[in-house]
This record gives sequence, C-alpha cells and structure tokens, in this order.
Amino acid sequence: MNLWIAQSKKCKTRVFLSGDLKTTSSFLFQIRRALPITLKHLTFKKLLNASVCLFEMVTKRSVLHSDPLYLRIEVCPYCNLRCPGCMLGGTREVSESNPGHRLEGAMKYILFEESLRDFVPSLFRVWLYDEGEPFLNGEIYDMIHFLSANNVGTCVSTNFSLKFSDETIEKIADCGLEHLIVALDGSTQESYSRYRRGGDFNLVISNIRRLQSLLSEKKSSPLKIEIQFLEFEYNKEERGAMRKLAKELGVWRLTIMEGCSCGADEESRPDLPEDERRDKRCYEIWLGATINSIGELGTCDYGEDFGIPNIGFAKDYKSEGLRNHPAIIQLRKSFGNNSVPLNDICKQCHWTIKKR
Ligand code: SF4
Repeated sequence: MNLWIAQSKKCKTRVFLSGDLKTTSSFLFQIRRALPITLKHLTFKKLLNASVCLFEMVTKRSVLHSDPLYLRIEVCPYCNLRCPGCMLGGTREVSESNPGHRLEGAMKYILFEESLRDFVPSLFRVWLYDEGEPFLNGEIYDMIHFLSANNVGTCVSTNFSLKFSDETIEKIADCGLEHLIVALDGSTQESYSRYRRGGDFNLVISNIRRLQSLLSEKKSSPLKIEIQFLEFEYNKEERGAMRKLAKELGVWRLTIMEGCSCGADEESRPDLPEDERRDKRCYEIWLGATINSIGELGTCDYGEDFGIPNIGFAKDYKSEGLRNHPAIIQLRKSFGNNSVPLNDICKQCHWTIKKR
C-alpha cells in the first residue's frame, strides 16, 4: 500500500495512511506529512540553501556547504507516561535509556535561543520533541513564539494526557504553534492505554475539545491538530472508530501508522543488507540536526539514543564548524563510499527505512 491522503466527501478531517513500513522511507513520510504547512516559510535564501543541501545529499558529498533544513530539539527529556516503544518507557535498562543529560531536566529558554542562533536563517521547521513530553516544559510557548517570529515552522508531538488549565490551553492556541500531533492509539480507554501506559483517554479527548473550541473562536491561529493512531494487532479493528472520533472532534487530520517499538528493543531493529542501506542513504546527516535538552548537537536522532557520541554544543555550530565535524564526515562517507564500513549503529538504524 502506498502512502496516500484521502478526504471523505462528508468529513473535513483528512485521513493520512502512512503505508507499508518496508517500502515507505521515513524521509518520504515526513516530507509528505509536513510539506503543505512548511512551504509557507520559504524564502529565497532558504530555497538556495535547500537546493545546495539536496544536491549534496543526492551526490553524497561528505563535506557540506549548506546548513540544515530542519531541527529536532528535545525540549523535555522526561515524560508522564511509559510507552513501551519509547526510550523512556520501553524495555531498555534505565541506566541505558536515561543517559546523563536526561537527568538534568527540561531545556531552559536561554539555552534554547543560544543553541538555535546559527541555525535559524536556513530552517523550515523545528520539531520540538524527541523523547519526553514537550508540554512538561513550561517555557515551550516562548520557544514556539521565538521560532514563529523568525519565520520557522513548528511541530509538537504530545500525549496530551495532562491536566491543562484554561490559561495553558489558551497559550497553546496563541503561541504561534502550527502543527500539533496528539498521540491517540485507541478509541477507548482500554485499547488506548495498552500502549500509552498511564494515559487517560477521556482527558486527552477533553483537551482536544477545549482546544478546538478555542481555535474556532480564534480564526487567526495557524494551529492544525493531527491525531496520530499507531495501529497494532490488538487495535486494528478500530480504524473506523478512530475515523469517526476524528471527524467528531473536527481535527485537521487523522494519521494511521503501523505501530512499532521504533528500535527500542533488539528484536525490533530492522535487518537490511549494508548495500541496500547505502542506496537508501540517511537523510538525517545531510538535511537535519538534533539537539538534546542540554544543548548538545548530535550526529542524528537515532545515533544519540544508541551511542554515537555527540559532536559538541549547538551554540558553537558556526564557530567550531560542527556541520563538518570529523565524526559526521565519516558517517556521510560511509553512506557514499563502499570502502568505508557503516557504523554498527547505522547498520541497525530504523531511520533509513522506517518512518515515525
Ligand atoms: S544512526 Fe546512522 S543511519 Fe541512523 S540516523 Fe544516524 S547516521 Fe543515519
């Protein structure tokens, strides 16, 4: 099944099917998911940089002259839930899944601004989440406001199973956020909480309703709400119910994705021959960058979680030439040159083939 977007004649909610995990790359999935609301941030300078960046990726250059098109930032490294596919709640040992920086708390706004300074001019979009629940960071609204004031698109993915005050719901509607992904993996508390362990289905629904009702009053808010439904064996019969629920809530889009543990446990890591991985490339190390909650710049999202050392601090990106840090040059070379072996972590990475 290929990735497609369908719109029911009667329902304004779009249904976005993510397709077969084996044939749809993470890159294509994220591009299609975000493109319609990302293009409005296009400027001549960004277009120029993006063209160079794509050229460098396609031709597998290892030393780059372009800057990243997107960032992923871990604004909060802890969570209120314990989902099995997540580094924070999964099957890995706490010592392994909770590396030191995650014990230091949520990212501070000052650090956020300092870390992003060099990246902002080339950015189309920032994903303000990695592991952890982003809305547990009370400064996230200022971060979103900063990005929106600098013509950068924003996306937050949340479990939304939090007791928000009216004031906080108002902040979510007003801060300039463009894209809110709400994880809702079931149409009843029972099926929902099999994956979202500790989550409260009714609370999530009530939060969506409150936000939607505010948004219908504030016509100028750019915010679009997407419900993301991870489909497993036990809940695959609920597609119809999820469509009905999404329609009733009036959200912008329902995305149905195949549920997976995203490599959090050994067995789930995809096995793919090295040559095929090289052919597929890894867009992370050409197009994007990842920053953790203490401002460290990683080579890539997956690498940070599984042991590729970070390459420095994001605030030193330009002054220390981190775009072309020797470690990341080596990774790029390994995808472009058969004589350079792939990193052991890249050999098991799901990013080159699976979407999230
Ligand atoms: S671990 Fe390797 S393949 Fe995976 S995202 Fe990082 S560089 Fe790419």
